[in-house]
Amino acid sequence: MNGKRDYYELLGVSRGTSEEEIKKAYRKLALKYHPDRNPGDKQAEEKFKEISEAYQVLTDPGKRSQYDQFGHAAFGDGGPFRGGFDFSSGFEDIFGDIFGEFFGAGATKRRGRARGEDLRYNLTISFEETAFGTEKKIKIPRQGSCEACHGNGCKPGSSPRACPTCRGKGQVNFQQGFFNISRTCAQCQGQGSLITDPCSSCGGVGRVRKFHTLSVKIPPGVDTGSRLKLRGEGEGGVAGGVPGDLYVVIHVEPHPLFIRDGLDIICEVPISFVQAALGAEIDVPTLEGKVKIKIPAGTQAGKVFRLKGKGIRDVQGYHQGDQHVRVTVETPTHLAPRQKELLKEFAELGGEEIHPLSKGFFDKVKQIFG
Ligand SMILES: [Zn+2]
Ligand SMILES: [Zn+2]
Repeated sequence: MNGKRDYYELLGVSRGTSEEEIKKAYRKLALKYHPDRNPGDKQAEEKFKEISEAYQVLTDPGKRSQYDQFGHAAFGDGGPFRGGFDFSSGFEDIFGDIFGEFFGAGATKRRGRARGEDLRYNLTISFEETAFGTEKKIKIPRQGSCEACHGNGCKPGSSPRACPTCRGKGQVNFQQGFFNISRTCAQCQGQGSLITDPCSSCGGVGRVRKFHTLSVKIPPGVDTGSRLKLRGEGEGGVAGGVPGDLYVVIHVEPHPLFIRDGLDIICEVPISFVQAALGAEIDVPTLEGKVKIKIPAGTQAGKVFRLKGKGIRDVQGYHQGDQHVRVTVETPTHLAPRQKELLKEFAELGGEEIHPLSKGFFDKVKQIFG
């Protein structure tokens, strides 16, 4: 064939290079140009065929020495694979490696080991549990072998039969140009066998979801969106592959009294206007129970009192936040006639001197508007 590029040049290696180097160079290029990664890209497909051919020749000692002596002429017009170039033979092992490493589980149905999939579990815990940490039992639905059929997917007493399309090989070959390409058999999905009487427990899949109980330690300080990774507790691996991981994603229930702000806790406490004016000692809820705080006479609405160290510990356990108690002053409603009378009397007695904020405000208004 004319215009064919030099095999060494195609792989970007020098002539005297080792087989090891050739394999390495090919892996790199195959990953880049593989049709699975470049769907519909004719140029990439062509490139992939070229490098694959170069790889096949240069890793076959006989063909390589012929090529080194005579170049492309060594193989005549039909090329080195006149009988049809078999995509699957020779470098299945390399593909096993490549796809195992780079695509992970589920990316390819080729035989061999595959890592189990990661699982996500959404766990709702209470506000108190985030503050103190907790241990939770969770039930994870994981894929396991079906007991009824021992994992083969057949109704007990029956057995799978060889797939007629691929004659049990799991792969079908077809011709494309002078390449003989093999693909996963669509009828049996590469299994090589078909199930005529599927197992009723698993529907012929051979695997069923089973609940697996797991104890998860939640450290204090976690918040909504925190993710705990439990290595190896995900879906089981296929054919001896390692299991995936389990991610427990935390959601914290809102608390009726507390709002979290980082490690601090904010709590609003209503007091009466009499308590605000005269001062009082009030009970304030904290995570560890009630504590008493003193409200000084003349406390304004919105005043914040800090309870040091009554907040949430951080996950590492080094710091603990505070609790902020914000006071709201409640205006009385549904006053009895006598109460109204007293308030009116109170208002008549009160002058500007008992309302310094109002005085300041109206003084400014006067300055601006005259
Ligand atoms: Zn088949
Ligand atoms: Zn079954």
